[in-house]
Amino acid sequence: MSLNHVRPWRNIYRRKSRQIMVGNVPVGGDAPIAVQTMTNTLTTDVAGTIAQVQAAAEAGADIVRISVPDEASSKALKEIVRESPVPIVADIHFHYRRGIEAAEAGAACLRINPGNIGDEKRVKEVIKAAQDHNCSIRIGVNAGSLEKHLLEKYGEPCPEAMVESGLEHIRILQDNDFHEFKISVKASDVFLSAAAYQGIAEATDAPIHLGITEAGGLVSGTIKSAIGLGNLLWMGIGDTIRVSLSADPVEEVKVGFEILKSLGLRHRGVNIISCPSCARQGFDVIKTVEALEQRLEHIKTPMSLSIIGCVVNGPGEALMTDVGFTGGGAGSGMVYLAGKASHKMSNEQMIDHIVGEVEKKAAELDSAAEAAE
Ligand code: SF4
Repeated sequence: MSLNHVRPWRNIYRRKSRQIMVGNVPVGGDAPIAVQTMTNTLTTDVAGTIAQVQAAAEAGADIVRISVPDEASSKALKEIVRESPVPIVADIHFHYRRGIEAAEAGAACLRINPGNIGDEKRVKEVIKAAQDHNCSIRIGVNAGSLEKHLLEKYGEPCPEAMVESGLEHIRILQDNDFHEFKISVKASDVFLSAAAYQGIAEATDAPIHLGITEAGGLVSGTIKSAIGLGNLLWMGIGDTIRVSLSADPVEEVKVGFEILKSLGLRHRGVNIISCPSCARQGFDVIKTVEALEQRLEHIKTPMSLSIIGCVVNGPGEALMTDVGFTGGGAGSGMVYLAGKASHKMSNEQMIDHIVGEVEKKAAELDSAAEAAE
């Protein structure tokens, strides 16, 4: 929960959900909202998949999902799980055997749609395998693959049909005395997703996995996800998120964190506040921000940096950031530390200098946090 007594208009009251474990990552309750992504390598390409999992984890992913479409992928999964720094969710469709194999291979969670993995006997076997191997389950309802009887009843994929599908799946797990589950009700349409998620949030206390499915490419998918997921998170709904993009999984993780950072729900790395620049700029703001984003990727400490082209907004923004730079005249600008004007710096040396100041501040904040523990 993000509560601010001084600025109550920033408060977000999270829906109260049960907590489950996905490996060593708690999901739901008061746990931080977990960020997920999914690999897009062939799972049988063990080295390639491990490299992608590691890159995603380095970018901040708490959990990574991997497709298990065949038996060879189940075998590969075992090796991948062994090397992975984060819990792995196995994505299972149609073949109940894959679910059993994935649980045996060490998956921390199975993403299944109990309606599409066969008859009750087979579902029971998958649930038993999950129980035996300490594996949680995500019920993944998708507007594009709703059961026939629900489509007949409702005429088209709609929020009510998705909620009903989710509750039917929940009942299957509960009837088998399985309670370590979370649920998602995804659609590619923002309105449909948001309404379905609001419905399921009221109907169950299970932790909720948020996502807008098939959201699109980097720019359009980011916008769609920011609107859909952003609104739900703002309402307090969502315990773990995945931004689906037709892009590198690392981009999905970065966008996921940016959405959470914008709402003050999680903090990681340097939050750069920069102006769009205009004729008044005292240095090239756009190029500078591009360079700093790259040079500061290694910083994980939550902190803020303002990079502002001129004195119109520079001193004001710098007041609220850990480190700041405001363009001035004659090829130099002012460096701000903890909101106060500190010293002048030439535009040429500014990027190296700011990187140094940010690293210094991050080390300071890290040791203060350690001392407080
Ligand atoms: S802060 Fe200055 S340079 Fe940046 S957009 Fe505003 S007026 Fe232009």
